[in-house]
Amino acid sequence: MHPDVIALVALESEDSAVEALESRMRALEPRLQELERVREVAATALERAKHTLASEQEKLRDAKARATQSRTLQERNQKQLDSITNVREATAASAQLDQARKMAADAEGEATRTSVRVEEAKARLAQAEAAMAEIEASQETERTAIAGERHTIEADLRHARMKREGSSKRVSQPLLGRYEKVRRRRRGQSLFALVNGACGSCDTTLPVQRRHEMARTGAIEMCEACGVMIYALPEPVVERPPVVEPPPKKTTAKKAAAKKAPKKEAASEV
Ligand SMILES: [Zn+2]
Repeated sequence: MHPDVIALVALESEDSAVEALESRMRALEPRLQELERVREVAATALERAKHTLASEQEKLRDAKARATQSRTLQERNQKQLDSITNVREATAASAQLDQARKMAADAEGEATRTSVRVEEAKARLAQAEAAMAEIEASQETERTAIAGERHTIEADLRHARMKREGSSKRVSQPLLGRYEKVRRRRRGQSLFALVNGACGSCDTTLPVQRRHEMARTGAIEMCEACGVMIYALPEPVVERPPVVEPPPKKTTAKKAAAKKAPKKEAASEV
């Protein structure tokens, strides 16, 4: 093979290695994002549980304060009632006392119901905290594994890029420029050998003369059909199959002639 072809084939293989590593590196991102998403769900639940507990505790404080106020009022009303001798005033004071007693009872009832909700909120918060701790512990393993993979890929990538740089120096500047342009456009394999005289990428057959010339000079050209770079393998390899064919043809020459004859007649009739 022509040195240009050898150098460019090597370069393309280095480029593929670099791209494969880059793609493995990108593949780590969704895994990290998924871990983050799961952690975020647990963190949101934990925040909500904290908020609920704080809000119920505040309601409990309010209810208790109202109960205390109402009990104080109730005691004052009781004292007032005890010191009253007038019946009409006593009736009014008694009504006030009943009202204060009712208010205290309501506030105490609410405090009792709220303290049940506070306990429930504490239990839910404990659950959320446990879930969060479990997620963080299980993610620790996965995150360590991902960090390890990233570290390995980074090292491989540095090595592959260095090798790529080395290979690129063995390709002539104009050829390198053409190759990089095609590779950027295609984002994949850009150099193909001719296969049975056709482009290895799109299978478009090249004129015989041009293929011979490419095989002789080792030129790397563009496929006009699909825009990849093409090169011909050394002639003997490509041309061997047609050379082997003639012997069997000789033995069937008469039959072939016999077959062809009617066809020609048929063709002329049309
Ligand atoms: Zn092609």
